[in-house]
Amino acid sequence: MAQGFSIPISRRDLLKLAGVTAAGVVLSGTQSIEAAEKISGDSIKYGDKKIPVLCSVDVCVCGGGPSGTAAAVNSARNGAKTLLIERGIALGGLGVLGCVYPFMDTHAPNSDTPYVAELKQRLRDKGIEPFDGVTQQTWHNPETLALIHDEMCEEAGVNILYQTVVVDALTSGGKISVAIIQTIAGLAAIKAKTFIDATGDAYLARSAGVDHERGYEKTGNNQPLSFRFEMGGIDAERLYQHVAIELQEDWCKSKLPYFEIAEAMHRKQRYKLEALMARGVETGEITQEEAEYMQGYMIIGKNGVMSMNCPEIPVKFSATDPISYSKAVTFGRKMMRNIARYLIKHLPGFENAFISREAAMLGARESWRIKGKYYLVEDDYHDQSRFADAVCRTAWFIDAHGEKISEKLPKGGFYEIPYRSLVSDKVSNLIVVGRCISASFILQASMRIQATCASIGEAAGIAAAYGLKSNVAANAIDWAKIPAKVRSYVSAG
Ligand SMILES: Cc1cc2nc3c(=O)[nH]c(=O)nc-3n(C[C@H](O)[C@H](O)[C@H](O)COP(=O)(O)OP(=O)(O)OC[C@H]3O[C@@H](n4cnc5c(N)ncnc54)[C@H](O)[C@@H]3O)c2cc1C
Repeated sequence: MAQGFSIPISRRDLLKLAGVTAAGVVLSGTQSIEAAEKISGDSIKYGDKKIPVLCSVDVCVCGGGPSGTAAAVNSARNGAKTLLIERGIALGGLGVLGCVYPFMDTHAPNSDTPYVAELKQRLRDKGIEPFDGVTQQTWHNPETLALIHDEMCEEAGVNILYQTVVVDALTSGGKISVAIIQTIAGLAAIKAKTFIDATGDAYLARSAGVDHERGYEKTGNNQPLSFRFEMGGIDAERLYQHVAIELQEDWCKSKLPYFEIAEAMHRKQRYKLEALMARGVETGEITQEEAEYMQGYMIIGKNGVMSMNCPEIPVKFSATDPISYSKAVTFGRKMMRNIARYLIKHLPGFENAFISREAAMLGARESWRIKGKYYLVEDDYHDQSRFADAVCRTAWFIDAHGEKISEKLPKGGFYEIPYRSLVSDKVSNLIVVGRCISASFILQASMRIQATCASIGEAAGIAAAYGLKSNVAANAIDWAKIPAKVRSYVSAG
């Protein structure tokens, strides 16, 4: 372990956070708790409250999903004192808390940036072979992934604040000066030179006044939410025998233990399991909404467990309205139970199955997106756009559930994502990463997959550290001018 955890969450600090005194701490990678406690007196006024400045860092990353974790690790590895704030108690975002599995294949050749390649190697080192030998998707294991993320952060010297929600941004002179957070002990402030918004919802960017949009401009709807879950107790051999051999479903190209089942009524593709789900609607055992979309993937390292990519909650429930979102949770949980009950009764291999885990985070494919210096659109996908300041490449198809499913790009084709779609003119010290970058609803439906989000975050972490070293504001960094050996990706031109 290169550097220790240095945020002073001692009893004394809990008392400080509770308002007894207020202390601000300048983090350094090697600073001990004792040393940190000697620094005192920093607090800020927030409304009518005086709240402690918990720490002051070079780079503060808000949100610990695939993009945020990558950003934090790469910022710290490049020499910046880095804090990562996550509202849950595991890193990995939807991929861990949201039961989203596996990492979809980008379909772009050589798209793995060094961090993504390292993640895959670390999975392998822990006995989780991510490749099925046929497809290019990354079969991970959520608990192993969470552990790997912790280890990578620890080794790089990233300080993590878990169970901490970013609630506000204070700005002055076109910069974010402070992020307001809610910790387990109460409100506190974080000072940083550069902020990275990896909340998936552009929460920090919106709080700081960055232009943004949500949903599809044609309908006003967000992409549908899903409430993913896992089912244990599955007889995988019997399931495989039924689906692959008896039904002769050849859609899943890989064999056990890498096996998946699916049906999606809104797609042109007719999956063999569609008939099973349609029968359930006829008998009244499941609703049409529950039958619309069902998918399950065996989880590597969890025998007899499938990650269920369903229920897909009707789009009348919004990913951006807090009341509607909350109702989606209740509605989705009922859908989940019905689907599970139906599969247990009717799908061979599921006879002894049970719900073994519910996602701890509702699955929002899309919510808010910033409008930054470059706005990626559908044409960038079809034209296979290249950018001098490209931070990664991808070719996952446009997968806007219920709205648009595009053709795949020709084999070997891909488009690039420019650094300018991560920054705005509005806030100079902010980089936005992951599924909420500056992209149209339709383009976002392609770029949102986990490996691509991680590559974007990786570049942001490198850029943030580089900008601070070379005294260039985050939104003025020319990624193409960063020495190629430092960059995680160099444009294909
Ligand atoms: C149902 C569903 C199925 C999908 N299927 C696949 C798939 O098969 N393969 C694939 O590769 N991708 C898939 N995706 C897409 C992919 O999971 C996401 O687009 C990707 O995880 C986005 O990464 P991110 O880092 O931008 O955000 P997220 O993964 O959403 O992570 C954001 C993180 O920020 C934290 N956070 C948010 N707000 C705050 C705050 N205010 N304070 C502190 N922390 C905060 C959250 O807790 C979370 O950990 C799917 C998505 C969904 C919803």
